[in-house]
Amino acid sequence: MAAGVWDDYNNFITSFIPKQTILKLRLFADKLTVHSGINLHLKSQERKSDLVDKIRTAFNTLRKSDNQRAYLIIRRECEQIAANNPRHRGLEFMPPPTFGGVPSSSNFTAPSSSRQPTLAYSQPRPAGTSGWNQVQGVGATSNAYSHPRQYILQDWRESPMWKPIKALSHMEMLPDIQSSESSNTRREKRVHFQLPNDVIELLKKSKSDPRSRPQYSIRLFCASSEWFRPQGLAAPPGAPPVTNRSIPIEYPSSPDVLLDDQVVPFKERGLRGKAGSAPPLDIDKSPRGLVMMPGRMATVTMSHTGPTPVSKKKEFSKKFWFQLVVCEMTSMEDLLTRLEALPPTNAAAEREKLRKLAAEDDDIEVGSSALSLKDPLSGMRIAKPIRSIRCGHLQCFDARWWLESNKSHPQWLCPHCSKELKFEEVICDGYFLSILSAVPDDYDEVTLESNGDWHTADGKYGTAEWVAKNAAPKPAATAAAAATTVSLKRSRSPSMQGTPDKGKRRAIEILSDSDDDDMPILAQPNGHHANGGVSQPSSFRASSSAQPQAAPAVIDLTLSDSDDDEDESDGLVPQRNFQRPGVESSSHGVAGSTAPRPASTALGSDVWDSIPFSSVRDLDDEEWGDFFNARQANGNVNGNGSGH
Ligand SMILES: [Zn+2]
Repeated sequence: MAAGVWDDYNNFITSFIPKQTILKLRLFADKLTVHSGINLHLKSQERKSDLVDKIRTAFNTLRKSDNQRAYLIIRRECEQIAANNPRHRGLEFMPPPTFGGVPSSSNFTAPSSSRQPTLAYSQPRPAGTSGWNQVQGVGATSNAYSHPRQYILQDWRESPMWKPIKALSHMEMLPDIQSSESSNTRREKRVHFQLPNDVIELLKKSKSDPRSRPQYSIRLFCASSEWFRPQGLAAPPGAPPVTNRSIPIEYPSSPDVLLDDQVVPFKERGLRGKAGSAPPLDIDKSPRGLVMMPGRMATVTMSHTGPTPVSKKKEFSKKFWFQLVVCEMTSMEDLLTRLEALPPTNAAAEREKLRKLAAEDDDIEVGSSALSLKDPLSGMRIAKPIRSIRCGHLQCFDARWWLESNKSHPQWLCPHCSKELKFEEVICDGYFLSILSAVPDDYDEVTLESNGDWHTADGKYGTAEWVAKNAAPKPAATAAAAATTVSLKRSRSPSMQGTPDKGKRRAIEILSDSDDDDMPILAQPNGHHANGGVSQPSSFRASSSAQPQAAPAVIDLTLSDSDDDEDESDGLVPQRNFQRPGVESSSHGVAGSTAPRPASTALGSDVWDSIPFSSVRDLDDEEWGDFFNARQANGNVNGNGSGH
């Protein structure tokens, strides 16, 4: 049994060792001393042949005493040193950086100024074996040493689709490509890793039974210096601070990944310059895939071509780090099943919330608005209306298309307000659903009144209250008078057609800012990226075209609440990529309209005539409701609602 460990010892000693540089051999000597206690007594100017002899002698000592443990550890580290090719003399002897809490690594690579060679040691392997490092099953002694090393899992940003659970490598740095270098410059980093036995079991189970949950997968995560920096690494000039928390995935320009020298297809690379818009790469997608053999050493090579400039500072290029991670994966189908299964929230309660928010918050735009029944991503009628509980708007989007758009660019943004949403906070809006079920398919939108009432433009469908009110007789002259009364009371009444609504316009302009460094860009389900213009919520377009003087469909109840994003990210991650409406737009609250009033001017004259002028302003919603209920009961207001 024990023969397995020493099987290709002679190759290692006679082929691998002599190929190494003096600098690397010195590192080998260090490893020998650290792990076996053998002091090689190197001179400061040791000749290479002497160095090789001393290292061979030390290894022979291990061989003679059958010290498998030390041999396996030292050999693995030597191979990692050989693969890393430190070019900058002197750096090898610097203490490795701590990688933000990651233990110091023997395979830290200094920035390299040229393409790295491939692994120097490429001993032909007997067919059917997995390579020299196949240590599993070589006896109880060596089994104890075959346990792969423990790595510190970085705090990668989670996603509904993946949950990082275990690291299989350090945070490995890709050799830099400076912004001044040619776009053809290619640099790579090779990393050796082992699949722990328990991980192999999980992977095998996932493969043999696709219905088992969760599924497991080995993924390559990559981050740029915009979001991750090892401790001790100075920030480039002007670079923002990083927390190394909730690190989003970002790949360099033209990344390539090889698993055991086979190309891993790399399609989903994210949006240019948008951290957090790409999934982690499935390295099992190479033609041969991962070899599930205990103790086998696999190799991942990541490379990039050409510099990746820092946004807005093209004179700097980003650095990149990557880590191999075991993930629990959730498929899109499973996520869709979960969303489809969401019970609708209580419609009446949702409506009441709308009313209350509108009544309590001075910043809310008052007036009617268009509420689109179409999904902003697909343009199709919404089937399962969802939104986040953190969204301040009633406007929903469709569960299926939202997932579809997150498949290749998993940003999980609200298609309307561009907030980054948490999957667990997504709800199926019962009120929106009630509108969908009440309105036939040939209607694309309804009008939402500020009190929460809705109706179709032609008045055929609407909440019971709205239909009741608007079915009342309305002589022209008194109706006009009533309208005047309303507009006097409400500075934002839709009847004030000539007054540009500056506050709201400003919000729209901010939202539709097409600066692609800052604006979230929504991925279309067909894979095309919407440009800045399309990323403008479609409901704005709908409202501005169909009802030019109406307030936009999205009543953003959170315009003045600048803490939301920070809440969602523990306040530690800069939300640079998710621009939101500025606080300034909140200063355009409606003076004097502490409570929303029916915006419609179609109230019957008898209704208006019976309200003392001074009380128009002072009735609260409940009183309005009581008032109309009383009128309805008395037969003064006609019509039946077809609402809920
Ligand atoms: Zn939203």
